[in-house]
Formats: sequence, structure tokens, C-alpha cells
Amino acid sequence: MGKLIDGKEISAKVKAQAAKEAEELKKQGICPGLAVVIVGDDPASRIYVNNKKKACEAVGVYSEEYALGKETSQEELLTLIDKLNHKKDIHGILVQSPLPKGLDESAVVEAIDPKKDVDAFHAYNVGKIMIGDYKFLPCTPAGVIELIHSTGVEIEGKNCVVIGRSNIVGKPMAMLLLHQNGTVTICHSRTKGLAEICKRADILVSAVGRAHFVTADMVKEGAVVIDVGMNRDENGKLCGDVDFAAVEPIASHITPVPGGVGPMTIAMLMKNTISAAKLQNGIAL
Ligand code: NAP
Repeated sequence: MGKLIDGKEISAKVKAQAAKEAEELKKQGICPGLAVVIVGDDPASRIYVNNKKKACEAVGVYSEEYALGKETSQEELLTLIDKLNHKKDIHGILVQSPLPKGLDESAVVEAIDPKKDVDAFHAYNVGKIMIGDYKFLPCTPAGVIELIHSTGVEIEGKNCVVIGRSNIVGKPMAMLLLHQNGTVTICHSRTKGLAEICKRADILVSAVGRAHFVTADMVKEGAVVIDVGMNRDENGKLCGDVDFAAVEPIASHITPVPGGVGPMTIAMLMKNTISAAKLQNGIAL
């Protein structure tokens, strides 16, 4: 029986530590601040933004929301980013993805001052992560590393398989596992023999975005299984990529969806915002 990795509990610890650090910063006259930009009326984005605002309140991070209409032009959005880059009480800027069609998301990310790029999506920060000399880690992969650490299973020397190679999850995930001395394989839609590759994984991370994608025959006995996927099943219920009922008896540790990776992403955003506030005030991390 796989031991459940409780993302809610672990994220609460990360947020508690962030709250403590926010308190200490306030004693020095620094209030960590996060600007959250949302464009359009995507309902899922609205939920994510609300959850991020709630986390800010809980941790003691000052937050500002900029909700722009879906007709917002690229120029207007870039003007706002420029304003936030120069705003002294804002240490982190997050632009909620996806942006409405017609807006160039990568140009927007590149316009964010890398020091305020708490998502760590800017090419500068991506490059720093590649080199292994980073201040911010992308929230979801960093949260996954925390979840793996919580199991007590060492990453070093383990066969780690990441399914998915997106810039926001799969690629940085693989890089972070590599930094922890895992032996990493990245799989994607053109991978041949996916099931056999996954079956060799001591640590399997799925970031595909398809319900019931990871089946029992793809999982090694005793593997740590981390499910990043956020999907809706045939009944409209939130679920991950992993066929949980079938995989859970095989895995040594497994994340549920919801309650696994999701809460960690927000907790790591709080951690990054505190780090950004420290760095912008010349305080070492
Ligand atoms: P994405 O950009 O759509 O990437 C999906 C990846 O899966 C791609 O690299 C794709 O390969 C690969 N893939 C698709 N079909 C495959 C197949 N049949 N076999 C092997 N690989 C396949 O998605 P994403 O942004 O990385 O997100 C992935 C999932 O994580 C989504 O469900 C998303 O909602 C969720 N997510 C959750 C959180 C959280 O906080 N919990 C955060 C971010 C994302 P190709 O590159 O070859 O197309």
C-alpha cells in the first residue's frame, strides 16, 4: 500500500516558515509584496488567483491584484509590467497563465524584471537553474522536490523518470532532479516504449495533463509516484494523470489529486516572494 504524501500538510509547513520570515522582515521595515496579474475571464485562472491571494493573506505577504479585460493589448500589459518592475512595494510579479489569444505570453514573461520573477519563468532564471546557481526555483517542480524529500527517499543515484517536457513543469523538474544527483529520463509524446521506461523508475513524476494516463503496468513496485496532472475525469471530478486506485498498492509513496502537488505550488510561490523581498533589500537567503 502506497503511503500517501500529504501535500496539504507539507505545504502548511512551508507556508508557516514563510510567515515566520515575513514577520522577521516586517520587523526590519520590509513588507514582502506580490502583484498578481490576471487577464480575461478564464474561470480556472480566477480560482488560482484567488487561492494565491488567500495564501498571501495567510502568510502576511502584501498583495495587489490587477484584473484586466480580455481585450487588453500587448502594449497595455507591457506598460503594467514596466510599472510593477519599478514599484518599490512589489517584490514579486506573477502573470497568471494562460493569457487570452493574441497576447504574447513569452514576451510578457521576458518583460518581468528577473529579480521579481517569482515563477522563475524568465530566460535569465531558467538559465540560472540550468547552471545550478539559482535564487528562485519554479514553484511546481520545487514543490515536487519538497514532497519527495518528505518521504525520506533519497533522490541521489535513483532512476527518475519525468513524463512531460513543458517549460513550466517537465524540463525544470528534470533539471532539479538532476541537481539532486538523480539519473533522469525525460519522456514526451514521441517517446517510444514509454511504459517500459516508466517501469524502471524509482521516482516517477507525471506532468502530462491526461486522466488515467499512468497505469499500474507502468509503475515499478516500491516507486515514489508524483502526480502533477490536474484534469477532469469523465464525471467532471478533479483528478491527476495517475490511475490512483490501481497504482497506489504498487507505489511506496504517492501523491493524491487534489491535495498533493497543487498546494505545494502556492506554498513555493510564497517562499519565492519572501526570497525576492530579501534579495531586493540586500539580505542573503
Ligand atoms: P503541457 O505544456 O501540455 O505539457 C504536457 C507534456 O506531456 C508535453 O511535454 C507532452 O509531450 C507530454 N505528453 C502528452 N501526451 C503524451 C503521451 N501520450 N506520452 C508521453 N508524453 C505526453 O502541460 P504542463 O503545463 O506541463 O502541465 C501538465 C499537467 O500538469 C497539466 O495537467 C497541468 O494542469 C498540470 N499542472 C499542475 C500544476 C500544479 O500546481 N499541480 C502546475 C502546473 C501544471 P510533447 O512535448 O511531445 O507534446
